[in-house]
Amino acid sequence: MTHDPLDWLDDALHDLSDRCLLRQRTTRQGAQQPAQISWRGQTLVNFGSNDYLGLAADSRVCRAVRETLDGSGWGSGASPSVTGRGQMHARLEEELAAFEAVEDAVLFPSGFSANMATIPALVGRDDAIFSDANNHASIIDGCRLSGASIVVYPHRDMAALRDRLRDRAGFRRRLIVTDTLFSMDGDLAPLPDLADLAQQHDAMLMVDEAHATGVFGHRGRGVCEAMRVEAGVHVRVGTLSKALGSIGGFVVGQRRLIDWLGNRARAYVYSTASPEAAAAAASQALQIVQQQPERRCRLLEQADDLRRRLQHRGWSTGGSASQIIPVILGDANRVMELATRLRDFGLLVPGIRPPTVPPGQSLLRISLCHGHTSEHLDRLVEALLSSC
Ligand SMILES: *Cc1c(COP(=O)(O)O)cnc(C)c1O
Repeated sequence: MTHDPLDWLDDALHDLSDRCLLRQRTTRQGAQQPAQISWRGQTLVNFGSNDYLGLAADSRVCRAVRETLDGSGWGSGASPSVTGRGQMHARLEEELAAFEAVEDAVLFPSGFSANMATIPALVGRDDAIFSDANNHASIIDGCRLSGASIVVYPHRDMAALRDRLRDRAGFRRRLIVTDTLFSMDGDLAPLPDLADLAQQHDAMLMVDEAHATGVFGHRGRGVCEAMRVEAGVHVRVGTLSKALGSIGGFVVGQRRLIDWLGNRARAYVYSTASPEAAAAAASQALQIVQQQPERRCRLLEQADDLRRRLQHRGWSTGGSASQIIPVILGDANRVMELATRLRDFGLLVPGIRPPTVPPGQSLLRISLCHGHTSEHLDRLVEALLSSC
């Protein structure tokens, strides 16, 4: 029998399967929509989408894409630093800067690449990063790639962060980095305290608003706006792919920061610009965010209501304070069983297990979106009750 160097993968996959951690790639049929999704041959209510404002299949967004396609074609053909940056990209960057009330903005192929490229552009071997234990994978990877010393502080623990900043005063630069809205637990970073600590310790503060852009804040700019700390945050990362319903990441801030990233952020310099039609979609979505604040208001009201009802019935929703509501169960098997049972009730609620969450902290992750009705939420609460 000949040996294939990939044979080890059989054991590795079996091992995942034995531990109930094997993920099968699944395919959605039809459009991404919260109220109804066709999935594995079933029609389900979708509680597993980041399309928080219901814009991914919005007719105005789709029209903007079609109109841009007619004028600009599809592919962008090169890195934005060569010839890939079209007029729609430039316009969207201007609009993002205006929306976020900052000097400038730069687009990336994805939110993941924005984090992964921005952190190594800001810090290197002589520097230290202070990173929340629950930060998104793209932040973790960016930290590792930078070569800086990485100090992970316990989730949202400001006393621990203060001690670690004090103990590590000898570095050239310091960077504190955090999600503003944590993607699995739906809880918020203590941004005012983080801004104070950054100021006291002469550190840069970088935040990732991926789940909060379009959802939080009076104007929809995110948790920094809601907590009134925008002036104390130096680097703000966001994504076009969640509430804005399109694709791509961005960083906003001072012009010199954006100029630097345009030179030194490798995923900007060495990756092809996304299609202009994708930028047009985000641009249209950004207008809707500004014209229809009622979308985000209703979403957060519904989330408060659902969270209260779940807690009232004894479910643990952790520190959730947003449209992301975990039902924390602990055991990965139990979570996957319950997710399967909810599908029998016509509800798609993703089970989240290691390595996305630490072992023993598996959860059902409910994402609320604009299209969910109170009837959908009633069904969800009842199905959870009768499944246990
Ligand atoms: C989803 C997410 C990203 C990645 O954004 P994409 O545009 O999907 O690549 C980055 N950070 C956080 C916190 C996220 O939740």
